Amino acid sequence: MVEVEELRPHADHMSTIEDSDSVASIVARITLFNAGFEEHKQHFHHTQLHGTVGRDFDCIENTLDELKHKFTQLKTQLKALGSESRNGTLDVAKYRAKDDLASTRYHDPWALKLEEYKRYGRQLIMPEVGMPGQLRLKASSVLIVGAGGLGCPAAAYLAGAGVGKIGIMDGDIVEVSNLHRQVMHNSAWVGKSKAVSLGNALRLINPLPRYEIHPYHLVPENSAIAAGYSMILDCTDRPSSRYLISDMAVVHGIPLVSASALRTEGQIMVLNDPPVSSDSEKAGPCYRCIFPRPPPPESVQSCGEGGILGPVVGVMGVLQALEAVKVIMRPPDRPANPPSLIMFSAYGSQMFRTMRIRGKNPTCSACSSDTTITRQSLESGSQDYMAFCGALEASDVLAAKDRVSVMDFASMINRSGTPVNHTLVDVREKPQFELCNMLGSVHVPFSLLRRWKNAEEATTALSIDIESHEPIYVVCRLGNDSQATVNKLRELGIDRNGARKIMDIKGGWEAWRKDIDQSWPEY
Ligand SMILES: [Zn+2]
Repeated sequence: MVEVEELRPHADHMSTIEDSDSVASIVARITLFNAGFEEHKQHFHHTQLHGTVGRDFDCIENTLDELKHKFTQLKTQLKALGSESRNGTLDVAKYRAKDDLASTRYHDPWALKLEEYKRYGRQLIMPEVGMPGQLRLKASSVLIVGAGGLGCPAAAYLAGAGVGKIGIMDGDIVEVSNLHRQVMHNSAWVGKSKAVSLGNALRLINPLPRYEIHPYHLVPENSAIAAGYSMILDCTDRPSSRYLISDMAVVHGIPLVSASALRTEGQIMVLNDPPVSSDSEKAGPCYRCIFPRPPPPESVQSCGEGGILGPVVGVMGVLQALEAVKVIMRPPDRPANPPSLIMFSAYGSQMFRTMRIRGKNPTCSACSSDTTITRQSLESGSQDYMAFCGALEASDVLAAKDRVSVMDFASMINRSGTPVNHTLVDVREKPQFELCNMLGSVHVPFSLLRRWKNAEEATTALSIDIESHEPIYVVCRLGNDSQATVNKLRELGIDRNGARKIMDIKGGWEAWRKDIDQSWPEY
């Protein structure tokens, strides 16, 4: 008599089949199980069975019926998957197992390498991804401009997800002050290329994608690089590069995920999705459609100047990767999401807010039919993005006679470091002033003094006599706000038409640290 126990392990094993199991393995297991089962069944028919054995036999037969039913369902799902892909652009027909189970070769080559099934398994089994989504990721190529606080997390997730080709563009080098937020770099890479550093880190996460490293800055003349990619991520922190990258995306007809972060806030938009070239009726807006004019240059600060909380820029970079993956995996027959702006505020009562934004501007200077920006004009360098955004050089603001070098200023203070016969006004914001400051200096943050309306407000805050001839020296971190302050004090009449000297300390405390006092903290 056949031992029922011989059958049980097989039956238990078969009944644990999950939806996530590879179809090939299910087919193989059912085939084997079927053969063994039929053989044992013959024995049972010729043997007088004990009652409990009979019940076990019934139980196993039920399990087999269930498995056969499940197998039929899986085959139906596979057929549906195949027809979906035929409607789209991907061919996953080869993914289907052959109907002939008797064949020893029961499947065509898999659509992915076995390593990829394992590596991407946790996302492959999601309905939002599946085989079509993974193949779209593999066929995609993403150019990430900026290997900093946004680019690091964005690139890491795209590499992990299996994007086929990833380009990293950045001309900067890794600095110690980057490491609190640019999490793919490390202390050993300080002083070396950010693009190379990020590329190396990505290869450790996933060696399968192709990585193209562009260790230089993006300028209009090298913007042709976008031709090799199907999507761009703007991970930079300057308005001039935002417009340049948007124009690149428009002339190359590829979607753009644009994000920014400063201090405790960030925002993100998916632009040019779908691109103008596909169907101008349905095309998404470009950056110029939303922001035709750049912000005034004096209102713009990069996170190097304005400060940034590491996780804030991390959140925005992760969202960029998420939006990119959603756009890449979207089936061709599904419309793009309506254009929207996601705003993040770390300390807001509501951390995330989504605002619907207007669509394509029919008179946009970049993406409308009467645009003057073409690929040729872009790559010739005739578009001056720095001028368009009004980038200010520190030396542009004040004349040389209104500025004093750190050397000259050093001779005006006594050995204890206190000012002699002058007023030193430090206009850095409070947190910076509290990090390090000079004895006897007067602290008035630039954000406060720029709102002064009259001379009295200034003389009160600075504790100065309006009639005095004592010169005023203004200092900030890098020498930009200090120049604007000199102009502001003159507007208010504090200089009494030149009777009182008001000067800016050239290069600010950073120049002071480099040239005069190396014990001054670098931050
Ligand atoms: Zn536009």
